[in-house]
Amino acid sequence: MKVAVVGVQGDVEEHVFATKLAMDKLGIDGEVIATRRPGVVESCDAVIIPGGESTTISKLIFRKIGGKTIADEIISLAKKGKPIMGTCAGLILLSKYGDEQVERTGTKLLGLLDVKIKRNAFGRQRESFQVPIEFKGIGTIEAIFIRAPAIVDVGKDVEVLAKFENYIVAVKQNNILGLAFHPELNAEYGDTRVHEFFLNIANI
Ligand code: GLN
Repeated sequence: MKVAVVGVQGDVEEHVFATKLAMDKLGIDGEVIATRRPGVVESCDAVIIPGGESTTISKLIFRKIGGKTIADEIISLAKKGKPIMGTCAGLILLSKYGDEQVERTGTKLLGLLDVKIKRNAFGRQRESFQVPIEFKGIGTIEAIFIRAPAIVDVGKDVEVLAKFENYIVAVKQNNILGLAFHPELNAEYGDTRVHEFFLNIANI
C-alpha cells in the first residue's frame, strides 16, 4: 500500500511517522511518501492532509505545476473511492462549506466532505488543549486540539464519529475521514489507533 502525505506545509513528518508505525502494527507492507508536487498523489492508495495553516496549504495545493495541481489529484483519487484523511487544517480543506474567515481569505476548499466548518472554533483561552473523547469504533482517545476548527453542520451522508461539547470533531463520509484534532501527535507515545482506523478503510 502506498500512502501520500501532502507535504506542502504543517505537521507532515508527524503523519509520516504515525502512518509508518500504524502500518507496522497492522503488518501492512507499505510505503509513506511526503509530497510537495503533483504526480505522486495520483499513484497512491490513500492520502493524508495534515494540520497547519489552511490558507497556506490551500494556496499550495491549488497551485498549478506542469499543468497539474495536487488538489485535482486528491479530488480524482477520492472519486475513485480511495481513502482521504484530513486533520485540523486538513479537515478545513476537505470541507464543502467554510465560515466567514474562509470567505474573507478566499481560501479554496476541496469540497469532498458535506460539512460546514468554523475555523479556530475553540476560543482564545483554550486555543490548544488535550481532552479525552469517545471515538466511535475506537474508544476513548486523548484528542489534541491546536487552534482547531469544529464542524458545525453535517449533510445526511456524513457519519459523526466524535463530539466535544457542542461541536462535532470527527466525521466519516464513505472513504473520507475528517478530524478537528491531531491524532498524529498521539503516535509519539505509541497510540496509532486513528491511523490504523484510516488504514483499515484503505484496506477494504
Ligand atoms: N487554525 C488553523 C487554520 O485555520 C488550523 C490549525 C491546525 O491545523 N492545527 O488553518
